[in-house]
Amino acid sequence: MEKVKVDSERCIRCGACVAIAGNTFDFDEEGASTVINDEVTEEVRQAIDMCPVSAIEIVEEDEIKEEE
Ligand code: SF4
Repeated sequence: MEKVKVDSERCIRCGACVAIAGNTFDFDEEGASTVINDEVTEEVRQAIDMCPVSAIEIVEEDEIKEEE
């Protein structure tokens, strides 16, 4: 199953993903984006497109696929 992940080290705290997909992302204590609901939605895909530093990704939860 797919789920959403954010790299909070890479996040520059612009707030775009929280504005676009507030059901999925929220700010942590340090103001970086964190995932509060890892379901992959259309808003999540928009947030991935909007993130200026590509800190958001969709990963496979139960199978880690090797790079081909
Ligand atoms: S859009 Fe990207 S850089 Fe901006 S808050 Fe979200 S994860 Fe961080």
